[in-house]
Amino acid sequence: MAWPVSHSLSPLLHRYWLKKYAINGTYDPIAVTPNEFPAMLRSLPARGFSGVNVTLPHKIAALKSVDTLDGVAQRTGAVNTIIVKDDGTLHGFNTDGFGFMANIVNVQPDWVAEAGPAVVLGAGGAARAVCVALQDAGAPEIRILNRTRAKAENLAANLGLPIAVHDWEERHEALREGAFLVNTTSLGMTGMPSLDLDLAALPPDASVCDIVYSPLETPLLAAARARGNPTIDGLGMLLHQARPGFEAWFGHAPDVTDSLRQAMLSAMGQ
Ligand code: NAP
Repeated sequence: MAWPVSHSLSPLLHRYWLKKYAINGTYDPIAVTPNEFPAMLRSLPARGFSGVNVTLPHKIAALKSVDTLDGVAQRTGAVNTIIVKDDGTLHGFNTDGFGFMANIVNVQPDWVAEAGPAVVLGAGGAARAVCVALQDAGAPEIRILNRTRAKAENLAANLGLPIAVHDWEERHEALREGAFLVNTTSLGMTGMPSLDLDLAALPPDASVCDIVYSPLETPLLAAARARGNPTIDGLGMLLHQARPGFEAWFGHAPDVTDSLRQAMLSAMGQ
């Protein structure tokens, strides 16, 4: 469920898995306005749905509309996946942080959050999921920087230590001694300006992740790769975040494979 929904890659992804595992199910896009959202959600059990993904602009409304809530979703302040339980109640959780972390570990199996400070650029919805995941993985320090500092302050106040807020203007210097850098802003996305960031202070072995996945190699990732930093693109996060929902609804744990990545990239025209 989204508004609008036509841009969503999720139907392609879930239908790929349904076909691969020969499961007799469907995954359909539903365009729902914010006004219609609560009633539409409540109609799911009677209409035979096993569950639903919710995305913009419904992720916060979903948090308030479900009957039971997972702890990670509560801390993230948003729900992106809902299961219809046997008794017709709705259980909400958030898989963005899971997808973010599963992608990193898949690309860099030796990566550990404990290695050193993490620098997070952005303080929107995705940044919250990323910060919760880094917190839970044991990052010793999370430096958050956002154009609108108040939003970063709010995130840090809600989530607590080890998150520390820095001014957006300090972003170049905040990379010093960082072990991990992640862009969660929409900068670098097709149609948006590039992220203006000087990587000079970033240690050469720090991993650099961009959760923007269109283009697959953002200007940030290209610059990081050129200076030898290990890089992680954002497509894997999108693919991995879908796994828990698919497994809960259809009873099969799906794989993220190179063929799936290729199918998604072709659909994205890349
Ligand atoms: P959001 O809640 O709208 O947050 C947008 C963030 O970008 C805010 O921190 C905003 O700063 C910052 N920003 C926007 N324009 C800026 C500019 N000109 N200069 C500096 N900062 C700017 O969006 P979101 O849901 O967090 O998503 C952010 C990005 O992550 C999107 O590109 C989205 O596609 C991607 N994403 C990817 C995945 C995945 O699975 N790979 C999942 C979720 C999101 P202000 O607070 O100052 O406005």
